[in-house]
Amino acid sequence: MEEIIMLEECPICRGAGMILHEGGWSVQVECVDCSAHTVYMEYNNDQEKAEAERAVAHLWNIGKVVSSERGE
Ligand SMILES: [Zn+2]
Repeated sequence: MEEIIMLEECPICRGAGMILHEGGWSVQVECVDCSAHTVYMEYNNDQEKAEAERAVAHLWNIGKVVSSERGE
């Protein structure tokens, strides 16, 4: 069952956020315009994957993102 996750606009530039999976074991939300992103959340199975997607979407939606320009 696919769950639709709502993403707000980028807190930095108001661009579009995108859920990005890396290597099949971690996920983050990244802005397609300015590359601001959340921390990565790791997962080991499908249930953790869904929870990780929700967690990074939540971080994104409350503006907890890292701007790549700060080099963090
Ligand atoms: Zn942005």
